[in-house]
Amino acid sequence: MKIRQPRDKFSERVLWLIKLRWLAVLGVFFTVPFATLFLKLPIKTPPILIIAVLLFLSNLAYLFLVSRAQKKEGADLSKANSKIANLQIFLDLTFLATLIHFSGGIENPFIFYFIFHMIIASILLSRKASFLQATYSVVLFSLIVFAEYLEVLPHYCLRGFVPATLHSNILHIFGVSFVFISTIYIAVYMASSITKILRKREKDLEKANLMLNEKDRIKSEYVLRVTHDIKEHLAAIQSCIEPVTEGITGSLNEKQKDLLFRAEKRAGKLLFFVRALLEITKIKLTRELKLAEFSFRESMKGILEDINLRAKNKNLNFNFELDPAIDKVRGVRLYIEEAILNLLANSIKYTPEGGEIYFEAKGSKDIILIKIKDTGIGIPEEDLPHIFDEFYRASNAKEKEKMGTGLGISIAKKIIEMHKGRIWVESEKNKRTVFFIELPICL
Ligand code: ADP
Repeated sequence: MKIRQPRDKFSERVLWLIKLRWLAVLGVFFTVPFATLFLKLPIKTPPILIIAVLLFLSNLAYLFLVSRAQKKEGADLSKANSKIANLQIFLDLTFLATLIHFSGGIENPFIFYFIFHMIIASILLSRKASFLQATYSVVLFSLIVFAEYLEVLPHYCLRGFVPATLHSNILHIFGVSFVFISTIYIAVYMASSITKILRKREKDLEKANLMLNEKDRIKSEYVLRVTHDIKEHLAAIQSCIEPVTEGITGSLNEKQKDLLFRAEKRAGKLLFFVRALLEITKIKLTRELKLAEFSFRESMKGILEDINLRAKNKNLNFNFELDPAIDKVRGVRLYIEEAILNLLANSIKYTPEGGEIYFEAKGSKDIILIKIKDTGIGIPEEDLPHIFDEFYRASNAKEKEKMGTGLGISIAKKIIEMHKGRIWVESEKNKRTVFFIELPICL
């Protein structure tokens, strides 16, 4: 199975340039009939349309190159993308210069479109490469203008738009060339200076983010050690109380029994909370998932049986639909089961007797869409934005159910995000709650 490298910011920008080029192709196709039919300009249509087709084909080729670079395991993605970006700008400048030549040369106001390429080059490429591309633009521009002036190349005059003698007026040629060349270099200087500042800021932010992550990791390791110790002690306290409350160590009077039962209940609640805290901390500290292929259908069947039983005990109506097309999934089975179980367990917890719970999993080519619906207490609108925060519990949930950690759905969210999936919720207070999960089939 091929693993696609994650898209970095550079790849995103290269793809953005490819998208822009589709617009440019459309622009050329529409401008030609407009200029010839409405403005009645004598433009050489066939070569211009050929260039538009070449631009279209080159864009397809860039798409292919980008996706090939992404699929190549172990390849230096940023180096490959930088080469593709350099090639794109180089060819774009060549196509633009050819277009300008066939549509009036120095008389064509579109010569200033070279500036767009300079700005794009400054965003995508290094400063040195941007200046090299600027120099290439100047060379192309000078070649067209002077070759047409010296009649080495034919001149296609935009008769009716400008005086027919402009391309042979040396004063005009020098004037426009001076403005063109200075604009090109100034544009690259300004755009690359701004990009340099922004790149530095981006790097600083990345560094700060790394530092924060490292601090968070140290904190999580500390929490892990402490919760682990607390859990051991709590379990020991529980195992000491149990034989006493069960009467193994002798009979107790009512007052002693009551106090010990309360202590046992509190220790149980605390143990439940500490276990959830331990679980989320362990998940946070997981650096690499041990992925394996497993049958999603089989794993869900086990969970759904368990939930069916729990729902029956609470007099809830439970229905489910499991798309028969879903089978193999790549991920950590135990984690995915835990995420889904947490959500279903919540539906049972927060739906009053007689209510309904519904589970649905539908498969498409790359993802599984899971829906968990209930007709329970719902989540108040003001709590919805915080509902995935650790330890957060909505006010109505606290009133209804004293037992809760506010960690169940944060754990589910962490697990789903580690599998590069998405989780979100829609809810209406006292009406319904629907959790949605989008889970990629192959990581
Ligand atoms: P807990 O249930 O232990 O409080 P969770 O992290 O599982 O913690 O859930 C966090 C909060 O989200 C809950 O306290 C509740 O307010 C809300 N919630 C989650 N699932 C549901 C649901 N199915 N119906 C209503 N509220 C829900």
